[in-house]
Amino acid sequence: MEADVKNVLGSVIIRFGGEIWIKKTWTRKLYEGRLVKNIKNVLKHYDVPYDKIVRRHSRLFLRTDSAMQASLELARIFGISSVSPSLETSSKLEKIIDRSVVLAGHVLKIGNSFAVKCRRVGKHSYSSADVCKVIGQRILDEFGEKMNLRVDLNNPDVGLGVEVRNDEAFVYSDTFDGVGGMPLGTQPRVVGLLSGGTDSAVACWMIMKRGCPVAPVYFDNTPFTDETTTGRALNVAGVLLDWAVGFPRNVYVVQHGENLKRIIENCSKKLTCLFCKRMMYRIAERVAEMKGAEGIVTGEAIGEQASQTITNLKVLSNAVKKYPIHRPLLGFDKSETEAIARRIGTYKISSRKAKGCKAVPSKPATKAKLEEVEESEENLNIKEMIERSIESLKVVKV
Ligand code: ATP
Ligand code: MG
Repeated sequence: MEADVKNVLGSVIIRFGGEIWIKKTWTRKLYEGRLVKNIKNVLKHYDVPYDKIVRRHSRLFLRTDSAMQASLELARIFGISSVSPSLETSSKLEKIIDRSVVLAGHVLKIGNSFAVKCRRVGKHSYSSADVCKVIGQRILDEFGEKMNLRVDLNNPDVGLGVEVRNDEAFVYSDTFDGVGGMPLGTQPRVVGLLSGGTDSAVACWMIMKRGCPVAPVYFDNTPFTDETTTGRALNVAGVLLDWAVGFPRNVYVVQHGENLKRIIENCSKKLTCLFCKRMMYRIAERVAEMKGAEGIVTGEAIGEQASQTITNLKVLSNAVKKYPIHRPLLGFDKSETEAIARRIGTYKISSRKAKGCKAVPSKPATKAKLEEVEESEENLNIKEMIERSIESLKVVKV
């Protein structure tokens, strides 16, 4: 698109995720209200000036002179399926034609093919097909010969969209895909076990996408890891929480090294990772209680590590009773997780070199028995370990 097209755009069409507008009226109103609040937070955070947000059935319209910048920011808000920077006018056919010709003059290049499509809500003296036909003809009359333009309805270089809504109309040529999902804050908060690796960041993001704000908890395993591991986790948390503008940017850091040390000294070596995770879950449960969260999210996927076989996941889940463990990546291949990590911006940081945990045994058990695990855990003072860990809790703003 030519640089100066920005000067003629004055609105953004905001389309909801399909699941929002099929909801019953009061639920939809609630979700829309939350979405509008999240949009306002994002526009304020990124200094995007705007006039107002207008609500219409299954759409929002943002009036702004920075329609292009606004569109790019809005496309990252959960609950929005797509956005189009547009020119706004009245539903009078002459006005729509005029604006369409102006937009076409900015976006069409010599030799381009184009198509016009129209979506119409309300009563008008013309049909959607009339709009497409007459605008197409006017564009050809205006620029067709000197710019060597042609109409191609199946595979056009430029698609011009017209949206007529009762007395108003919008004309656009660009549509940016949003992330979909549900507006953040429409579901209760969850605690996210965030290691800084690829998986846990994606797991947290997927739960956020369905409306749950995430409170990330990082377990600092120093001296079995070091500050490179912690730095990476905090940086990943920063990128993750960029998707949650307007929500707290706190990461809860637990000193877990001492727990791990006691596990190594007192318990069966081949089960070290299971004891470690079971302690993480128990501590996360306490954090969830403290922060009013209603679940715990992890990045585990079936068979991805020895501790993540179906048998071992059962042993892990058994450590906590009050809160469910949510594992959105359970059925994902690594390549699928990595593709999402790239898209959300965490992949590069998660791939950064950091000290791996030195406590991982060389031959970890893949089929742990719950009785054996519980028996070995009797050598630990679990209650005291949880209390000490909670006392060590630090809140880091990212
Ligand atoms: P990730 O890529 O998220 O680090 P992983 O495949 O390497 O996961 P594990 O190290 O077995 O697997 O961890 C499984 C899950 O446990 C992680 O996805 C994360 O949710 C949680 N977890 C592991 N280590 C930590 C940590 N140090 N702090 C917080 N959560 C952790
Ligand atoms: Mg990892």
